[in-house]
Amino acid sequence: MRFRSLGSGSAGNALLVQWTHEAAERLLLVDCGMSERELQMRLRACGCEAFDLDLILLTHEHEDHLGCAISLATKYAIPLGASLGTLQGAGLSVGQLTQAEAKGLQWVRLSSGQRFEAFGLEIEAVAVPHDAREAQQFVLHHHNAGQPGSQTSLGILTDLGHISREVLQRYCRLDALVLECNHHLPLLERCAYPASVKRRIAGAWGHLSNAQSAAFLREIDAANLRVLVAAHLSLQNNHPDQVRAALHGAIGAEALARLVIADQKSGFGWQTL
Ligand SMILES: [Zn+2]
Ligand SMILES: [Zn+2]
Repeated sequence: MRFRSLGSGSAGNALLVQWTHEAAERLLLVDCGMSERELQMRLRACGCEAFDLDLILLTHEHEDHLGCAISLATKYAIPLGASLGTLQGAGLSVGQLTQAEAKGLQWVRLSSGQRFEAFGLEIEAVAVPHDAREAQQFVLHHHNAGQPGSQTSLGILTDLGHISREVLQRYCRLDALVLECNHHLPLLERCAYPASVKRRIAGAWGHLSNAQSAAFLREIDAANLRVLVAAHLSLQNNHPDQVRAALHGAIGAEALARLVIADQKSGFGWQTL
């Protein structure tokens, strides 16, 4: 299994996961927060096409994640995994959803706590505290060929205001983690945003600060992570140096040297597990 990002942050998120199942390459897109044109361009830049996608997962309806997901999934007949709340938050009433399905949208309803299998990849949806209708993040498990009982797990965890008990339980044994490091709190406090926006971002249903992410890494078995990516950094209120400084105490110098920091525009390159 390998994964990369095509963009990470409030201007647009998209993450690709590729794996082999029964001798065929499979490709999954988690979030699609940009125009179709932009997405196609970024896919092509890494040798992929929209029609190569086997599945799209949507974490929540905020525009930096939703983008062209519904139209792309319909146009290319790609199954779309999302919660009911996410599609309602995206503006589809139950009636409109039925109409969309009649026009070719293949919606796979994902509910937190359930596991769903697609082409040998097990997808675990986890509810997260975020100010969207029914936000979920995902843990992906890939069974290692020829090694019964052995699996490789990738956790994706952005857009949440705090670490809930459920998140802590479900993200504790991973091989790789893409973790939100949204802001450095002192920078957010000093910036020119309106007070209400600052409260939203720093609130329990907003985004994780560097310090919150560092505390989370101390709680889980971060030493076993083969790949750790800091993602969804605020361009205004964070900086890679602030992220490294915050995480250093939690993961140590060796893991810090391997830390990948996602860029808003280019995301990050393939990480192979
Ligand atoms: Zn976001
Ligand atoms: Zn969001």
